[in-house]
Amino acid sequence: MSDSDWRQLIVRLMNFIGGQWCEPIEGRYDLDYNPATFEVYAEVPDSSEQDLDLALNAARNAFKTWRLVPAPARGEMLFRVAHMLEERKEDLAKKMCLDMGKVLVEARGDVQEGIDMAYYMAGEGRRTFGQTTPSELLSKFAMALRDPIGVAAIITPWNFPMAIPTWKIFPALVTGNTVVFKPDSKAPVLAYELVKILQEAGFPKGTVNLVFGQGKTVGEAMLADPRVDLISFTGSTQTGRHIAAKAGEQLKRVSLELGGKNAIIVLNDANLDLAVDGIVWSAFGTTGQRCTACSRIIVQEGIHDELKERLLDRMKTLKLGEGRNESVDVGPLVSQEALNKVERYVAIGRGEGARLEIGGERWNQGADSPGWYYLPTLFTDVNPSMRIAQEEIFGPVLSMIKVKDLDEAVRINNQVTYGLSSSLFRKIPPRKRGMADLTQARA
Ligand code: NAD
Repeated sequence: MSDSDWRQLIVRLMNFIGGQWCEPIEGRYDLDYNPATFEVYAEVPDSSEQDLDLALNAARNAFKTWRLVPAPARGEMLFRVAHMLEERKEDLAKKMCLDMGKVLVEARGDVQEGIDMAYYMAGEGRRTFGQTTPSELLSKFAMALRDPIGVAAIITPWNFPMAIPTWKIFPALVTGNTVVFKPDSKAPVLAYELVKILQEAGFPKGTVNLVFGQGKTVGEAMLADPRVDLISFTGSTQTGRHIAAKAGEQLKRVSLELGGKNAIIVLNDANLDLAVDGIVWSAFGTTGQRCTACSRIIVQEGIHDELKERLLDRMKTLKLGEGRNESVDVGPLVSQEALNKVERYVAIGRGEGARLEIGGERWNQGADSPGWYYLPTLFTDVNPSMRIAQEEIFGPVLSMIKVKDLDEAVRINNQVTYGLSSSLFRKIPPRKRGMADLTQARA
């Protein structure tokens, strides 16, 4: 692609406040880079507290009327959103590759999660049931209805730039809340596209507001502002801990989805073809930048060496490159900071005495691929207490831990501050066979 073609991709994004697209009041912008090429992909408002102030006023005003719109009517707007997302799926997926580097097949999946969420929450407009309860008092009727809470501050990361905002915004809207949305400025284009779709679907002015900006300015101001009733956050454990404390001061409702140190356990009798597929997809999909990415393989000793060899064979075939190229398996990391963190942890792993089997360095092939690439990396001889086996790296780095049996595997699986997700590859014992047969019959 020539220089001039790339320049055409540059978009100057705007905030969306009270139904209007607007420039940030102080006129400052950050740059959003395509992590595969370092080309500037978008200019993103670096908003101030003044922009947030307008958005919160708009959201509070809109709440007065939006809360009274019947829930099924709110849901119908989300059906329109679902259709628009479906129509634009391919375009959105390609934009996502440029915006934050994930490969096309995963970007399509990310948009699909948004589509599924739109249908799910649209239906919820007809399912926000309350409860009736027998009363112990004569002539009393006891019931509980679902009421909206107010203004929801939605703070999201860059790694699932369509799916995660939809998990938060759609439920808030269908239940009658209004929204001020602050996405991460490292992947702003999908947030912009999503809000455009919500506008086109007919959400009244002020129900959805978008304020781009930094966590330390716009994000912090959201936490402290009494006009925010509820905070829904996905991001790092460190930021989540801070948000929970700040929200607690004002007794705001808060929902947090944070980081993890995920494991896959593989026992001697596992189907290794399945296990290798699962490990490679989980550890290196989205370049390891998923909250549920596998970063520890806990493997029973009888199968350890064979699994290692099979993994190495597969890892050698993984193709790195720009996400929009359909033949690419692993894209770049999102930023220089993310790359530095991976390099730091690989050095820590080596220093701790783990054995580096493959990877362990940046990958670049001249001018065509200058991006923030790092080779899929495998450590063996990893002790469960090493930092590479304890801390979230958020990159394509996998640690293999050898164990005697399932009990030891489960103990090590749980020996981290927060596991988030884990899975087990083993032969299913006979007493569970019926369930396995049923699963196969349905497939
Ligand atoms: P991060 O915490 O640095 O940033 C996430 C968001 O919070 C961004 O929008 C950022 O601007 C904002 N933010 C930062 N500081 C803030 C502050 N002081 N006040 C208010 N907002 C602030 O997260 P990250 O490192 O960019 O994202 C990756 C992390 O997200 C990983 O730890 C990953 O595991 C986690 N994650 C979790 C899930 C899940 O569902 N559990 C899903 C995806 C990502």
